[in-house]
Amino acid sequence: MSKIKAEYIWMDGHVPTQKLRSKTKVLNGPIDSISDLPIWGFDGSSTNQAVGNDSDCMLNPVYMVPDPIRGEDDILVMCEVMNPDGSVHASNTRAHLRHVSEKFANEESWFGIEQEYTLFEGRNPLGWPEGGYPAPQGPFYCGVGADEVFGREIVEDHMQLCLDAGLELSGINAEVMPGQWEYQIGPLSPLEASDQMWISRWLLYRVSEEYGVSATLHPKPVKGDWNGAGAHTNFSTKSMREPGGIDAINAACEKLSKKHDEHIEVYGADNDERLTGLHETCSIKEFRYGVSDRGASIRIPMQTSNDGFGYLEDRRPSANMDPYKVCAILIETTCN
Ligand code: ADP
Ligand code: MN
Ligand code: MN
Ligand code: MN
Repeated sequence: MSKIKAEYIWMDGHVPTQKLRSKTKVLNGPIDSISDLPIWGFDGSSTNQAVGNDSDCMLNPVYMVPDPIRGEDDILVMCEVMNPDGSVHASNTRAHLRHVSEKFANEESWFGIEQEYTLFEGRNPLGWPEGGYPAPQGPFYCGVGADEVFGREIVEDHMQLCLDAGLELSGINAEVMPGQWEYQIGPLSPLEASDQMWISRWLLYRVSEEYGVSATLHPKPVKGDWNGAGAHTNFSTKSMREPGGIDAINAACEKLSKKHDEHIEVYGADNDERLTGLHETCSIKEFRYGVSDRGASIRIPMQTSNDGFGYLEDRRPSANMDPYKVCAILIETTCN
């Protein structure tokens, strides 16, 4: 038996966008299963989750992976926040997805989430001239060379950390705006995709610390003629993935067309700044779906259209969205 470090990670009560918090518990290890981890507490009055005279909140471990930064037997632990009596805390958005994914388990839904983000050094995106602008967008997307891409060391480190943690990271690319990048997690079950997305975000913030750089998920980090940052959410059910599944995909799009406002409500704060109808987006006021259409709300990938089965891509969620909420509403709208 030896001492190990468990980093307990949770979502705070910050409004309108919840942020990540974490603290370290030293335990006798190694820890083999999530059920071996103790419940823990924290001061909710410092995270906008409780008032000072009744400040204790509970951390309930729900998902763990190896800690790729500390190594050895150390672990990262995603937690649900509970009230002192064990009931679900108001800020706990995972609990609802837990219920939804259980209720619709027979649909076997999969999610693949594309996380876009922007690296900042001080008040400027990484690589931008002090107080000014780089050349207009065009050469940066998937670019190579010191004058085209900025922050690749961080991005490479982050990718390796995600893989070492056992996350289902499926790729990375430099984005259209310089200093902006993307990685994808999935396809995975709704809870796994969401838990892994939150842990990968924690790793992104954490590794950026080492470079004195901060990563932001703001949907429009630079105003004007610059691309925003989204979290395209790729989604399929078992019936969509089987031959003839295109009918199920079209039926899902029709259902989604009737719930546009409800979806936008949970697709991230300040998303109106991003969904303008420009920069490969559809206006926040419209709903459209189409094959290969990057100006639509929902894109049906060309491969899916050609095969007659596959998945759909919801292009509306912004980079700062909560995957627990987005996965839950996609299942509820399309599977009901
Ligand atoms: P884009 O062409 O929009 O940039 P990406 O390659 O960045 O697409 O992301 C596509 C995502 O879709 C990946 O995370 C991938 O794992 C996921 N994906 C692939 N097949 C499915 C599927 N059947 N259901 C859900 N997600 C899927
Ligand atoms: Mn992508
Ligand atoms: Mn992208
Ligand atoms: Mn996409």
